[in-house]
Amino acid sequence: MSVKILLEESEIPRQWYNLAADLPTPMQPPLGPDGKPISPEMLAPVFPMNIIEQEVSQERWINIPEEILEILYRWRPTPLRRAFFLEKALGTPARIYYKDESVSPPGSHKPNTAVAQAWYNKQFGIKRITTETGAGQWGSALSFACCLLGLECKVYMVRISFDQKPFRRLMMETWGGKCIPSPSTETNAGRAILEQDPDTPGSLGIAISEAVEDAVTDETKQTRYSLGSVLNHVMLHQTIIGLEAKKQLAKIGEKKVDIVIGCAGGGSNYAGLSFPFMADKIAGADITIIPTEPTSCPTMTRGPFAYDFGDTAGMTPLLPMYSLGHTFVPPPIHAGGLRYHGIAPLVSQSIIEGLATPRAVHQTECYEAAVLFARTEGVIPAPETSHAIAAAIQEANKAKEEGKEKVILFNFSGHGLMDLVGYEKFFAGRLQDYPLPEELLNKSLLALKDLPKPKVAKSGRW
Ligand SMILES: *Cc1c(COP(=O)(O)O)cnc(C)c1O
Repeated sequence: MSVKILLEESEIPRQWYNLAADLPTPMQPPLGPDGKPISPEMLAPVFPMNIIEQEVSQERWINIPEEILEILYRWRPTPLRRAFFLEKALGTPARIYYKDESVSPPGSHKPNTAVAQAWYNKQFGIKRITTETGAGQWGSALSFACCLLGLECKVYMVRISFDQKPFRRLMMETWGGKCIPSPSTETNAGRAILEQDPDTPGSLGIAISEAVEDAVTDETKQTRYSLGSVLNHVMLHQTIIGLEAKKQLAKIGEKKVDIVIGCAGGGSNYAGLSFPFMADKIAGADITIIPTEPTSCPTMTRGPFAYDFGDTAGMTPLLPMYSLGHTFVPPPIHAGGLRYHGIAPLVSQSIIEGLATPRAVHQTECYEAAVLFARTEGVIPAPETSHAIAAAIQEANKAKEEGKEKVILFNFSGHGLMDLVGYEKFFAGRLQDYPLPEELLNKSLLALKDLPKPKVAKSGRW
């Protein structure tokens, strides 16, 4: 039996899969400040039109431009690995596979969309891209992509991560990106927040506000903003993960996958792996699909489906998604990433349909899972990734109890070599579980009170 299942470059998928084409109930549109659906033209100051076209596309398959594939070949197709050693440690009859997205130069799945977005911006004549970053994974992925394509890159990094993770900033600088802590004094959004709360740890939402403001206020009109998750086109670009995994499972002779798992912050690595399998589920296959999240930032498991802003300052359109409220700042005690208040609209609608079953995991269980994984399989997982591993272990243990030979597939979204401080806290016994207290949740949800409400529409098939 093979430990790693590889594809030739010639076997790389040549089209992305668009779930929007197959969801039985249509997506509800993003809304503008007046509560009316926004038109593609309204997004034009923020994103280039070729990306906006992908954002609203209903085509099932979208060709991947050859020049993008030529860049992706530097690390793709990524290996599918059989977690033999983890299986053995668990004594499970389940066969566990993981798609190893940690092999990209920045160390995660994020360059799959960073390269595509930088390429489309360049095609459109854009010279400079702004963005936000949390743990620094997205900022490094976009700096890497912009470097390869000859674009300028400016990254607003959530302050707590900027202070705790200097190595990510140095990765960005090595690839020629410019990285500053957010909130910063360089934008109106940043200055307003600093005035209210000078010691704020920052949040992804605040950083998004700053990066969008920077892009739309550039008088040369040659700057656009780029988002590393949440939006439809990002989910689209990541589907290369699941499409490769399908070919790899076929190659090793696996006819059926029982359980597909991914950790979800904004939802892109989870969607990238799972959406091609969700297409099979829509066509009748029996697959359990599980997006996982921290109990301290329980967007999918405890948030309502609502219209909410993508950012704290309320500059983005209102998106129909599960949300904790756009002013949500996760507790600093939480070390595992996945801190975003919302989740991709496509992921949200598929949860409403019953096509996916979200699960929240406690942080100490995640770190235990990550350490077991490192001590059996070898690679040290990103704290985000550990939320997928913990759920995979739960499912493998369940298969053991039931005495069933299930096939479990999860996404290994990235390595944790830049996040060892979280491991240090775990080993020192300084990490506790922190399920979000009800009072804090309710307080945070007040931000949704006066916003329009989306319909909760589903086909009832699942
Ligand atoms: C950014 C990141 C995530 C979370 O983002 P998604 O868009 O939900 O995928 C998960 N894992 C790693 C390693 C990341 O860098």
